[in-house]
Amino acid sequence: MRNLVAFFAILLAMPAWPQTKLSPRWEELTAEDFRTAIQQSENTCLLPFGIIEKHGPHLPLGTDLIDVRHVVLSAVQTEFAVVFPEYYFGQIFEARHEPGTVAYSTSLQMQLLQETTDEMARNGCKKVVIVNGHGGNEHLLPYFAQTQLEKRRDYVVYIFPLVDSPPGGPAKKTTNDMHAGETETSKMLIARPDLVHIDRANQESGADLARLKLPDPLYTAIWWYASFPQHYSGDGATGTRELGKYDMDAWT
Ligand SMILES: [Zn+2]
Repeated sequence: MRNLVAFFAILLAMPAWPQTKLSPRWEELTAEDFRTAIQQSENTCLLPFGIIEKHGPHLPLGTDLIDVRHVVLSAVQTEFAVVFPEYYFGQIFEARHEPGTVAYSTSLQMQLLQETTDEMARNGCKKVVIVNGHGGNEHLLPYFAQTQLEKRRDYVVYIFPLVDSPPGGPAKKTTNDMHAGETETSKMLIARPDLVHIDRANQESGADLARLKLPDPLYTAIWWYASFPQHYSGDGATGTRELGKYDMDAWT
């Protein structure tokens, strides 16, 4: 189940279409229209979860937030659901040495996310789908979902993790492509091409320095910095709109 629309289709047995088209964006609805939107979405709300961190020398700090919101807002054109406003309060301690990174404390991340989903549920969102757009949240979010069993709640949290595109798309030119490289640059060329400074992509190196040698599968947090101290992994100059469209369509 790696397709966002297919996933929503299971949550929404019979989507009901309104007389006049409502905005899916929470913050754009009037209070009265919000009530209608929650009914129309059959109590399903989406929380696109980004981050604010350096993305190589050429992509904006909000890349993950911008991309995940682009995909979610496209998906709800097919299956209506209410989309929570910009949310970027996730795990990003490994980029605190870079300008512009916003890294909240662990306890605040958990408390803010819990109070956010609680408030969504109080407003009628009984199925809360957190759509992740940032690799550094991939441990945080399943843990958050597991903690929902700590006490009885009147809503369910689902996590839609980062997904790989299916095979068959445009051939990729690079193998090291984890952060602000070929794939992410291509996606941003679809979401916000005006924010891509592709001419700057080679001002820094995104090569893997491989400075930490640990036997597989041993994990420690400094692995990322050891490999990519400039918070850049790949070669953004190789990004194309063709690959971006394939990946964004697959994600949607
Ligand atoms: Zn990213």
